[in-house]
Amino acid sequence: MNRNPDILVIGLGPAGACAAREAAKSGCSVLALDRKKIPGTPIQCAEFVPALIGNEVDQLSSNSVQNIASMLTSIENAPPDIMADFPGKMIDRAAFDANLAKAAAKAGAQCRYGQSIRDISADGRVSLGNGTIITPKVIIGGDGPHSIAGKAIGSVNTEILETRQICVPLCRPFSSTDIFLSAEICGGYGWLFPKGKYANLGLGVVAEKKADLKILLAKLHQKLVRDGRVGEQVISHTGGAIPAGGMIKPYGILGKTLVLLAGDAAGLTNPITGAGINAAVISGQLVGEAAIDWLQGDRQSPINYTQGLEDLFGASLKRALKRRRAFVNAYANENTPTPDQLRASWIAYSDYWAA
Ligand SMILES: Cc1cc2nc3c(=O)[nH]c(=O)nc-3n(C[C@H](O)[C@H](O)[C@H](O)COP(=O)(O)OP(=O)(O)OC[C@H]3O[C@@H](n4cnc5c(N)ncnc54)[C@H](O)[C@@H]3O)c2cc1C
Repeated sequence: MNRNPDILVIGLGPAGACAAREAAKSGCSVLALDRKKIPGTPIQCAEFVPALIGNEVDQLSSNSVQNIASMLTSIENAPPDIMADFPGKMIDRAAFDANLAKAAAKAGAQCRYGQSIRDISADGRVSLGNGTIITPKVIIGGDGPHSIAGKAIGSVNTEILETRQICVPLCRPFSSTDIFLSAEICGGYGWLFPKGKYANLGLGVVAEKKADLKILLAKLHQKLVRDGRVGEQVISHTGGAIPAGGMIKPYGILGKTLVLLAGDAAGLTNPITGAGINAAVISGQLVGEAAIDWLQGDRQSPINYTQGLEDLFGASLKRALKRRRAFVNAYANENTPTPDQLRASWIAYSDYWAA
């Protein structure tokens, strides 16, 4: 392992892998580490990506499990509203992440798994769990919602959605993403996303209501069993945190070391939908370029990177954050959101897109 790389990438999720690939293409030395032992495993994702990401990632089609055509949204168990044109793909997220990392390695990055970053000092030295010290010129934090790189520079995701998800058998195949909105799913929503004979069934809520997730998910599961849509069997469990507070400052300096953040670490996940794969891939590519620019002497590169993220994601993140705050505020003073307020908090409805 190179202990003095030009660039250390922390995390080999979509953001880190794309950053490592982009940076390695320029010929500089890139070390990319992930604490996971097996690439992309365990999966912490509902595995849906909108069609537009297909332009960004070659790996998407080869890791696609099924096509999605539409979105159905049910509010408080009413019959669903249909958004007929909502194309996308369900992917095998473990294979997707593994293939992005393979592409990074092919471009020349040294990718290592089972390597946990334990600490980053104020002068930019990085300590691994096994005691190894790495002294890079640039650190890229592609290390997710609770980023250690972000913590080191004081850029921390403070608003979080907590999730719980199970994989269940489907009674019959379908090709929509199904969304469940209800006041009892506090500050979040439920989802049923199909993958051929199976589906990811999950829920996200504000972090303070994490303890409710198990019961709420069991209730939604039982309802779908009664409706004849899914089987009783639970094939696997997962979950995890989703940043829901919008973009945070994506760079800082520790001694002479530049630290850049991408993907969830930079708070680029949509605060309403929780979707973050697309932003992770795109910001990963941009952050790799920004790191190279810095190494070539461009001291404006972190500012230009920040501006690039603002230009690409700023407007949609700001809208989603505004809607999320209104949604969460609807619970103040022991109130619960009305169906109209739930509608205004979801992308399928015109109220969400209103000024
Ligand atoms: C239940 C759930 C469902 C979701 N569903 C969707 C969906 O359907 N569509 C969508 O677009 N988005 C979805 N998301 C969000 C999406 O998964 C993230 O936005 C996306 O994974 C962000 O990619 P990333 O590379 O920034 O971070 P991650 O994918 O989180 O990758 C971070 C990597 O860093 C590693 N790491 C972290 N800390 C350290 C450390 N100290 N040392 C070494 N390695 C470290 C981790 O092991 C991990 O591999 C979902 C999230 C959750 C939790």
